[in-house]
Amino acid sequence: MDLDLSPDEQAFRDEVRAFLADHLPQHLRDGAEATPTVFAEPDIGREWQRILHRKGWLGYHWPVEHGGTGWTPTQRYIFEKECALASAPGLPVLGLKLLAPVLYTFGTPEQKAHYLPRILSAEDYWCQGFSEPGAGSDLASLKTVAVREGDRYIVNGSKIWTTHAHFADHMFCLARTDAGVKPQQGISFLLIDMRQPGVSVRPIIGLAGDHEVNEVFLDNVEAPARDLVGAEGQGWTIAKFLLENERGGSCLAPALIADLGRLRAEAGRQPAGYNGALIHDRSFAGALARIELAAQALEVTELRILSDIAQGREPGPQTSLVKMVASTLRQEVDGLSMRLHGYAGLQLATARPLYGNESPEPIGGKAAQVAAPAYLNSRAWTIFGGSNEIQRTIIAKTVLGL
Ligand SMILES: Cc1cc2nc3c(=O)[nH]c(=O)nc-3n(C[C@H](O)[C@H](O)[C@H](O)COP(=O)(O)OP(=O)(O)OC[C@H]3O[C@@H](n4cnc5c(N)ncnc54)[C@H](O)[C@@H]3O)c2cc1C
Repeated sequence: MDLDLSPDEQAFRDEVRAFLADHLPQHLRDGAEATPTVFAEPDIGREWQRILHRKGWLGYHWPVEHGGTGWTPTQRYIFEKECALASAPGLPVLGLKLLAPVLYTFGTPEQKAHYLPRILSAEDYWCQGFSEPGAGSDLASLKTVAVREGDRYIVNGSKIWTTHAHFADHMFCLARTDAGVKPQQGISFLLIDMRQPGVSVRPIIGLAGDHEVNEVFLDNVEAPARDLVGAEGQGWTIAKFLLENERGGSCLAPALIADLGRLRAEAGRQPAGYNGALIHDRSFAGALARIELAAQALEVTELRILSDIAQGREPGPQTSLVKMVASTLRQEVDGLSMRLHGYAGLQLATARPLYGNESPEPIGGKAAQVAAPAYLNSRAWTIFGGSNEIQRTIIAKTVLGL
C-alpha cells in the first residue's frame, strides 16, 4: 500500500486547507474544541454543515447520482483529517452517514427524492431509534410494535439512549411488524416524524452533566406506509447494513491523531504542578507514543476499508475491529488528557456551560475545561454502536471462524 500522497492529492489537501482557513469561523472551532460529547450540538454542527453544503462538499461518502462529491477514498480521508486538524465541528452523522446509505441502497425512488436532499441541506435532523430497555446488544428482542392499518402503521413502544432525540424532527426506527416468525424476521425499518402527538422525549443526563441521550416513548404514533424502508420484515438486514457503516464507515483515526498532536504539543509546555514539561515524564511519553502508533495503525486499516468500499466490497465484519480499536483508543486519549490537565480539569468539570458564552480564557485553558467531561463521556464509546464484548464475538465468529 502506497501511503504517500500523489501530486493531485497534495493539491486537493492544499485546497481543503485553504478552504478551512477561509471558511471555518473561529466560533465553530471554539465550539468544537469545547465539545466533550461524541456529537457536536446541532447549532454548531448544522452551521458547519450549511457552509459545506454551499461549497458542495457534503455527502462525500454518497454516490454522485444522489448528491455525493465523487471523491476517491483518499480524498475523503484527506478531507476528514484536515477537518479534524482544523478543529471543525462534527457533522450530524445520523442522517448523513447512517440513514443516507440505507435510503440510497434500500429506499424507494420517492424516499430518495424526498429525504436525501433534506439530509444534505440540514433541513431534517435525524435520531436513531434502535435500542430499547431490554434490547441493546440483543436487538432481536425489541418490543416496539408497528401494526399496519390501511396506508399507515400505528407504532407503540419505547426507545432508550436515543442520541439527540430532543433536537430531532425525524427518527429511523426498528419495530416489530410480525410476532409470528423468527424474532429477526419480524422486524421492519420505519421512518417516523417526531413532531406528532404521541411522541415524548425524556432526557437522560450523563455522568458529566451533559444531555446527549434520551428515552423516547411512542404512543399510537403514525408512520405512513410509504415510509417503510425496504420490505416489511427486512429491518434486521437493513439494521446490520447500517451498523456496519456506523462501526467502520466513518474515519475515526483522523480525530484521534489530531487530538494526540494537540496533547503532545501541550505536554511539551510546562503544565502547572510539574517540575518540567510532562512530555519528559517517561511513563507519560511512553503511553503517548504507544497510543500514537496504534492510531497510525488504525488509520491504515481505515484507508484499506475505504479502498475496499470504493471497489464495491461491503465493509463487512472488519468494521467491528475498527470500532473496538478506535473506542479503546478514544478512551486512552481522553485518559492521557486527564493526566495532563489533571486537577484543573476535574475542578472545572462542573464549570458549565461549555458552549459559546464561557469566559474567553477559562482557568487552565479550554482543553483543561473539557478534559474531565470528555473523559467521563467517552466511557460510552465502548458501549454505543454495539459494545466491545459484542464486537469481539463478531470478530471471533466471522473473521476468525471460531
Ligand atoms: C452514549 C450512548 C449513545 C447511544 N445512542 C444510541 C442511539 O442514538 N440510538 C440507539 O438506538 N441506541 C443508542 N445507544 C445504545 C447502545 O447501542 C446500547 O447501549 C448498546 O448496544 C448496549 O446495549 P445495552 O445498553 O442494552 O446493554 P446490554 O445489552 O444489556 O449489555 C450490558 C453488558 O453486557 C454485555 N453483554 C451483553 N450481551 C453480551 C454477550 N452476548 N456476550 C458478552 N457480553 C454481553 C455488554 O457488553 C455490556 O457490557 C447509545 C448508548 C450510549 C451509551
